[in-house]
Amino acid sequence: MKNYQYDAIVIGSGPNGLAAAIYLAQRKLSVLVVEAAGEIGGGTRSAELTLPGFTHDICSAIHPLAIVSPFFQTLPLRDFGLEFIQPAASVAHPLDDGTAVLLKSSVEETAANLGLDGTSYERLVTVLARNFGVLASDILAPLGIPSNPFFMGAFGLKGMTSAKNLVDHYFTEPRARAMFAGNAAHSMIPLEDVPSAAYGLVLLLTAHAVGWGFPRGGANKIADALGAYFLSLGGKIETDFEVKNIDELPASRVVLFDITPRQIIKITAHRLPDAYRKRLEKYKYGAGVFKMDFALNEPIPWKAKQCFEAGTVHVGGTFEEIAESERAHAEGKISETPFVLVAQNSLFDTTRAPENKHTAWAYCHVPNGATADMTEQIENQIERFAPGFRDCILAKAVKSPADLEKHNANYIGGDINGGAGILSQLFTRPVAKINPYAIPSKGLYICSSSTPPGGGVHGMCGYHAAKSAFEREFS
Ligand SMILES: Cc1cc2nc3c(=O)[nH]c(=O)nc-3n(C[C@H](O)[C@H](O)[C@H](O)COP(=O)(O)OP(=O)(O)OC[C@H]3O[C@@H](n4cnc5c(N)ncnc54)[C@H](O)[C@@H]3O)c2cc1C
Repeated sequence: MKNYQYDAIVIGSGPNGLAAAIYLAQRKLSVLVVEAAGEIGGGTRSAELTLPGFTHDICSAIHPLAIVSPFFQTLPLRDFGLEFIQPAASVAHPLDDGTAVLLKSSVEETAANLGLDGTSYERLVTVLARNFGVLASDILAPLGIPSNPFFMGAFGLKGMTSAKNLVDHYFTEPRARAMFAGNAAHSMIPLEDVPSAAYGLVLLLTAHAVGWGFPRGGANKIADALGAYFLSLGGKIETDFEVKNIDELPASRVVLFDITPRQIIKITAHRLPDAYRKRLEKYKYGAGVFKMDFALNEPIPWKAKQCFEAGTVHVGGTFEEIAESERAHAEGKISETPFVLVAQNSLFDTTRAPENKHTAWAYCHVPNGATADMTEQIENQIERFAPGFRDCILAKAVKSPADLEKHNANYIGGDINGGAGILSQLFTRPVAKINPYAIPSKGLYICSSSTPPGGGVHGMCGYHAAKSAFEREFS
């Protein structure tokens, strides 16, 4: 019988790696997390990227998926310092007429923004929003028999289409169509492609069910709370430990990878069956991200006053403009008028900047690995809806797709979701298999966002992978 130093080792300490580690440590297993960076957290880290006293979220900034996560909801993260702030509105979507559409927690108040499309909006979301608590456990899970087939069926009928089809079916006016486009564009796939509507619908539902909150103090508070709870369960963490070959690890019964297929092949190729390795090689990465952080002398001077109520602002104009920008990166082109996601956490969290000063976080989508500098395009788009924005900038920091990949090796070519969110990789990532988490090699599992349910800070990939590992190897 082989002597094992640990029951389980997790490579990578993103939200999925930490969720997997916690699940196993809760079951009294000895667990080690190894992390290449100097601190834990992966996509949930914060730093003074611009000036002293300004805290910027390096990757994720807005966390409805962490709040709604069925696994995170079971953890005592408040006791470990995690507090979510909720702005009055989840999203503002400014338009060229100087107004903005607001996505609020009340379906009725949101519908009231949408003119003639208000009734259709209520028809689209009311029942699903009211039942999102139960629906979330089926949506944030691998493909299987849903625990709530009625609601999952209703969600599938509405969402398993393209954003273009959905808006053509439900909406006639620019306001509702634009708001839906902003949510669906988080999919990072063209809005004419299935299942872009599903992404948009899920995000609308999270706004109504839990709100687009974020942690007081920075995204790193999520990692800090997960890490501290894991340590309290007896877990161990080693940072500055980049795994280059799986054989360097201490002996353990299972290894869980919070990393993506290309990295798994690199460090584990000799342990993978040929057929499986070849399938992993075909895994598709998605669009990249060009990211900017700003230290500001004052809040972004939005023309539409409604924008000051929201933590997130979707900058890009009409459905048609956003669709064009999302088509561009899919065709390998740079959009001169990109859809820009903006987060303005400091409006609601005074810990983020010195008194009366502010931060802003913004990114747009670009082709995977693109080298273009998008500074001008991002600032122009914000300036379009907030004239005078450039005059408020005290300092800025820029991260190209290559910089993001340097910061976190999981962001291949700047892909922040661990793989494209295309239909063929929605439920079947990284390969089509009944159990997508188990690698066909004894004791190896994938727990990153390259498995269902994919990108975002929710920890559910880690939870499902660890559950699978526990049931197969330890029960
Ligand atoms: C700019 C940006 C904005 C985003 N915005 C949001 C948002 O607002 N809301 C949201 O929910 N999500 C957002 N995301 C996505 C979110 O951050 C990711 O989907 C999420 O972090 C994925 O979690 P994970 O645990 O799978 O992997 P990650 O968080 O990427 O963690 C992987 C970890 O593995 C480590 N690692 C990699 N290779 C090795 C190795 N060889 N050895 C040891 N360790 C290794 C990495 O250093 C990293 O710490 C954003 C991401 C980016 C980059």
